[in-house]
Formats: sequence, structure tokens, C-alpha cells
Amino acid sequence: RRIAEADSVAVIGLGRFGRSLALELMAGGTEVLGVDIRDDNVQSLNGQLTQVVRADPTKPEVLRQLSIDQFDRVVVAIGGNLEASILTSSALLAMGLPSIWAKADSAEHAVILEQLGVHHVVQPESDMGRKVAHLVRGAALDYIEIERGYAIVKSAPPERLWGIPLGKTGLRKEFGVTIAAFKKPGADWTNADAETVLGADDTILIVGPTRKAEGFAQLR
Ligand code: ADP
Repeated sequence: RRIAEADSVAVIGLGRFGRSLALELMAGGTEVLGVDIRDDNVQSLNGQLTQVVRADPTKPEVLRQLSIDQFDRVVVAIGGNLEASILTSSALLAMGLPSIWAKADSAEHAVILEQLGVHHVVQPESDMGRKVAHLVRGAALDYIEIERGYAIVKSAPPERLWGIPLGKTGLRKEFGVTIAAFKKPGADWTNADAETVLGADDTILIVGPTRKAEGFAQLR
């Protein structure tokens, strides 16, 4: 079956990164065309993606045969092979695809992809390294930096918040952070408001400037 719908995604390169991306998209109900030059990568995903094809994506005629131009979103998940990543990205850009994502394995690789005009360049290894640094250093249970300097931190609430409605804690004024959501043991995540009262066993999401949000997560 050919898939070429607006809501589908083509993933080119089915190594560890491309594979995990493709399977997560499938799990969320998105149709996925997977492409890889290696037969073993294609075989191992057979039946798990909407369609998996063994082909060389660096060749524009191959991309045309696969009707890649019908996809709104394409991910070039070839990191290790710089030449293949550049050739594939360049061919996709020449086809006028509106949303091309590409994985870079180094800062230099990322610069080249950006210079080509790739719309979204990701560097999973350096991004994850930075994230883990924040987890290792602090009290955060999880950490997402939305952009440089602004973050969401998951942590336990410091003792000074226990038993007091958030609106009465002076949190924003004193610490420059917002508590966006909380989770009581065994319950679902809930949006926090001024009436929210936290306890020692709860988990919270702190939103704010990175240093302030991390500093607040560090309080006991
Ligand atoms: P990972 O995601 O595991 O870190 P890589 O970036 O090394 O891995 O993954 C690259 C994937 O892209 C491999 O599965 C490789 O077979 C695939 N690939 C697809 N097309 C090509 C090509 N023309 N040349 C080289 N590799 C390609």
C-alpha cells in the first residue's frame, strides 16, 4: 500500500534514532514510510511501520519513485554518514518539501544542514548530554529547556509549600517561577492554580527562567 497523506511522515535512515522516532509516530497513530539502504534495518521493521522500503535516499530519482514529495514532513535520520545526510537533505530541499527535519551528529554537521536550508536540525546526543547534566547536578526528576534560558523542571515540592494554597505562597514574586502542574501519588497530572495545596509526596512542574526554576527545585 502506498501512503502519501498530509498526516504521514517519511523517516529516512532507520538506525537507533530513526527507528525509535518512526515507532513512536506509529504508536501515536501517524502513518510512517521508513527508508533505509540497509536490508537488515528494513527487515527488522517490516510490519511495524505502514511501509518500509530498502532504497538509497541520496538519489533524487529514488526519492521521486517513493513519492516523497507527497509528504508534508520528512525526517533525515542519517547522522553517521555526513555525505549521505547532505545529499539526501539537498535532494529533499530541491523537491520543495515544506518541513524537513534532520539529525546532525556534530556541531559542524548541524551548521552545514542549516546552511542548506533544512528547516529543523536536531542534535540528539549533545541535547541529551546537556539535559542529563542538569539531572545529575540538581534535584530535578526531569528537565526540559524550552529555549536557552527557559525551562520546565519536574521535582518534589520544597517544604515551605506544603499545606499552603499556592496563591498564598508569594512564589512568583519571591522566586520568579510558576508551578504549572502537580501530581498527587496515584493520581493524574492536574493544572495548578491559586487554590492548589501541595504535600510532601506530590510531584510538581516548575516553569521559569532556567536558573530560577533549577534553584527552586533545589530548595528542601
Ligand atoms: P543512529 O541513529 O543509530 O545513531 P546513524 O545516524 O548511523 O545511526 O544511522 C544511519 C542510518 O541511516 C543507518 O541505518 C543507515 O543504514 C541509514 N542510511 C540510509 N541511507 C543511507 C545512505 N545512503 N548511506 C548511508 N547510510 C544510510
